[in-house]
Amino acid sequence: MLDVFFTVDVEIWCDGWQRLDERFPHAFRQYVYGPTSKGNYGLPYQIEVLNAHGLTATFFVEPLFATRFGNEPLAEIVGLLKEGAQESQLHLHTEWVDEAREPLLPNIRGKMQHLRQFSLDEQMSLITVGAQLIKNAGGGNMSAFRAVRAGVKPASMSRHKTGAIEAGAGGLEALV
Ligand SMILES: [Zn+2]
Repeated sequence: MLDVFFTVDVEIWCDGWQRLDERFPHAFRQYVYGPTSKGNYGLPYQIEVLNAHGLTATFFVEPLFATRFGNEPLAEIVGLLKEGAQESQLHLHTEWVDEAREPLLPNIRGKMQHLRQFSLDEQMSLITVGAQLIKNAGGGNMSAFRAVRAGVKPASMSRHKTGAIEAGAGGLEALV
């Protein structure tokens, strides 16, 4: 029998990087609740459809936005998934790194789109921060990580196989 995995990325974008704090509440509603003139088709809708068919999906949640806007909106996402008996796992968009209120790394070098643009130690540290953010938001321990379009360095893939990322970055078991 063929195994099929339903996976969904959950991420918030503010339509550019200007006036972020002003734009965030609207962006959060758009990306999480998906309002349209015919109803809401965001996360709660997806969860409802999955549950109606007895299915569990893995939702790869991008948590770095919380370093700018606080834990509460992330906890809202994780709470929806938990309540809907769906799985939360880790996804990272490193464009948020230079928008965090407290520096996430000792050396921030502006807007960086891909995890692979960071050193291996920085990658591991960002994965650890992300996993901790989701844990703090009520999401438990992360065991899988999805980078952006193969944005993980090959070096970190092989180190993962030897257990280095597993030991250093929140007990991950899978990179997808
Ligand atoms: Zn993404």
